[in-house]
Amino acid sequence: MTAPMLLKLDQENTRLKSQLDSMLREARRNQDRMQRMDRIERQLIAADSLSALVGLLLSEYKTAFGVEQATLTLVDREHVLAKLLVENLDLPTKSRLHPTLIAAAGSLHLHYGHGLTPWLGRYQHQRHAALFHNPVIGIASVALLPLVRHGELIGSLHFGSANPERYGAASGTEFLERFCGIVAVCMESALNLDRLRRIGLTDGLTGVQNRRYFEQRCKSEVSQAKRHQQALTCMFLDVDRFKQVNDNYGHPTGDDVLRIVATDIQSQLRAGDTVARYGGEEFIVVLPRTDQAGAAEIAERIRKRMEARTFPTQCGKAIQVTISIGLSVLHPELIQSDHQLTANLLVACADRALYQAKQQGRNRVEWMAFA
Ligand code: GH3
Ligand code: MG
Ligand code: MG
Repeated sequence: MTAPMLLKLDQENTRLKSQLDSMLREARRNQDRMQRMDRIERQLIAADSLSALVGLLLSEYKTAFGVEQATLTLVDREHVLAKLLVENLDLPTKSRLHPTLIAAAGSLHLHYGHGLTPWLGRYQHQRHAALFHNPVIGIASVALLPLVRHGELIGSLHFGSANPERYGAASGTEFLERFCGIVAVCMESALNLDRLRRIGLTDGLTGVQNRRYFEQRCKSEVSQAKRHQQALTCMFLDVDRFKQVNDNYGHPTGDDVLRIVATDIQSQLRAGDTVARYGGEEFIVVLPRTDQAGAAEIAERIRKRMEARTFPTQCGKAIQVTISIGLSVLHPELIQSDHQLTANLLVACADRALYQAKQQGRNRVEWMAFA
């Protein structure tokens, strides 16, 4: 073989090698991308509450996709999501991780038209500013992803990138279509789980929380009280001579009384307080950041309100019903390392205070020191 031929072969060899290298690099990049997507999809599927899903989409994926902003709008026709998020999301309401809730999907449809497919393109302030956090700085291109279930728009996920070429009409939407399809399905399933959980923690008759919820909550309030070195009060409330209400006016009237009592107690509490039906005609309340004077005032207000109001009966006659209340205050220095045990002791003290209130004639408030 002549020298020029050898040189040519060598050059050809180098070219093929470099082509092979670049194909291998591309294959590795694709594999990385697929593995990353696989991980993301698994995380989405594993999210078992709306707040977990929101956290993933707005925090983790903002980093994973390397975008400036990730925002989420959800359609909340019956204000259900607002309640679920307040109950589950451990984030301040003003947090940037909060989704925007809207009552109807109308304004979102403007971005998607009939097809309800992702929209990718340059950021246009007039059209897109409302979808992102203010002030919108450094966003040059956006991906607007419709979340659709059963043909209906249930929400919209938005990514804003500083790179003007990142999202464009020419970019493939296949991956993003698949992604928002999965997000929508996961959203529906997380919501169903939240709803089920909510039903499992709510008292069916009165609509307030049930004992199971209270027990979890009371323990976490003890931990908070310890952390913030604040007093915590537990209040036990029991309807006086309730058996007579049932005996004289029937069980349905008794049920109505319980519903009214629950609503009345709730109306006297603050946003962070928790009321639950503990059993039969007994209710329990936990009041964070509340000392004895504060708790006594709230308890007396509830007692007086009950004493002053009348209750309707099935036979048309209005009756009066009173309640007795037992209080126990926990000061942070008495909180033991076992917060569950402390919570149980607090409830037991409030129960003893209630027993005293009954012993001393009913329709009164008594308290007992935590011990
Ligand atoms: P006290 O002042 O000592 O608390 O007397 P009381 O009659 O309220 O207490 P007692 O424990 O003797 O009776 C409670 C009654 O509450 C008996 C039970 O039938 C009734 N009860 C429990 N759960 C319900 C319910 O869901 N609906 C109705 N209507 N009654 C209930
Ligand atoms: Mg009673
Ligand atoms: Mg009772």
